[in-house]
Amino acid sequence: MVAVSRERLAAASEMLRKGATLLREPCPKCGGVQIKYRGEVSCIVCGLAKDESAATLQLEAKLPSLKEIIETKALEVAFALRDERSIERQKDLLDLLERYIELLLKLSGK
Ligand SMILES: [Zn+2]
Repeated sequence: MVAVSRERLAAASEMLRKGATLLREPCPKCGGVQIKYRGEVSCIVCGLAKDESAATLQLEAKLPSLKEIIETKALEVAFALRDERSIERQKDLLDLLERYIELLLKLSGK
């Protein structure tokens, strides 16, 4: 549970007095109460403004490319493994590959 800071609460009640409205939709970041004032939506609890929440969404949208990077790396390791003759090196590469695969599984949320 995130505590609402005194300043935010004061700012929120000030905005409400000036005609701001509380939204039914909870904050996408913390689930707190969102307030709409002059067309701008911000969260009373964490102060997340609409712009910032858009930035958060963009960050989430970047996850697939991180996945792509790891996929590429995993493939590189797989290719290196194919050409590797040293048993010791193969063990290292397999360890690495295992980690990449674990990461990929985590990123795909399964
Ligand atoms: Zn919030």
